[in-house]
Amino acid sequence: MIGFTGSRIERADHLRLQPERIAELVASPDARLLELAGLDPVLDGEGRLSWCEDGATGSEPQLLFLGFEGDAPLFAPLRRIDNAGPAWAVFGQLAQMSAADIALWGAARSLIAWHGRHGFCANCGTATELFRAGWGRRCAQCAAEHYPRVDPVVIMLAEHRGRVLLGRQPQYPARRYSALAGFVEPGESIEEAVARELGEEAGIVAGKVRYVASQPWPFPSSLMIACIAEAEADALRIDHTELEDARWFTRDEVERALADDAEASFLPPPPIAIARTLMAEWLAPRGAHP
Ligand SMILES: [Zn+2]
Repeated sequence: MIGFTGSRIERADHLRLQPERIAELVASPDARLLELAGLDPVLDGEGRLSWCEDGATGSEPQLLFLGFEGDAPLFAPLRRIDNAGPAWAVFGQLAQMSAADIALWGAARSLIAWHGRHGFCANCGTATELFRAGWGRRCAQCAAEHYPRVDPVVIMLAEHRGRVLLGRQPQYPARRYSALAGFVEPGESIEEAVARELGEEAGIVAGKVRYVASQPWPFPSSLMIACIAEAEADALRIDHTELEDARWFTRDEVERALADDAEASFLPPPPIAIARTLMAEWLAPRGAHP
């Protein structure tokens, strides 16, 4: 399962604009309120998300309606969090959690962080108020409606004659190499963003670009779009303001790294990151399997 995907929640979008119905769900004895430490997950002894029951939902001033798990309506508290931790700080917790719990927590984290950053109307500057059961904000002054952002990011491998290009950023743990990535800009397609980023960061001229998979990345609200590009040549011109290093790796090197071989020439990204899925896909394309 690709990290942050696989939620089993029924989001019940049709109820979001029915405040009376949402109020009934909040008051329901089945209602459950997600426990959080800041924006981080709180886990029970078996690595599952912790929930408050028994009326806790009704005492929370602002709520996000996550949807239903079976008959139970699930909510998250919308509290202002000023100091969200970095992504890597929760990787240890995520490693204990089920895919469905990671996906659910990731969606809640993105939404809560979005509310924290969008308290004022981007159109006229007036304080906004929550609507759509937490899936939007609106401005009473100018009537503008604001919806949660998803920011597309391309993340890619370049391949050339059986080798693959990986880079490292200065803040990575020692020996880690991963796929290059960058935000899609207005006015470009996914393929054009891949080609531009490879050109800017590594001096690569990209030919054909193949889409592989995508993943939500809730730090705070990216959609990672994973691709593999054919490089026309292997000469590199590294932008050291973006990357500490970038190198070509052989299939054998990538295989060893993904097998967590202690002798591997680099440390791969963690399983939660789609960069690792991308490396596995490069080694063994799904189309190659019967
Ligand atoms: Zn406004």
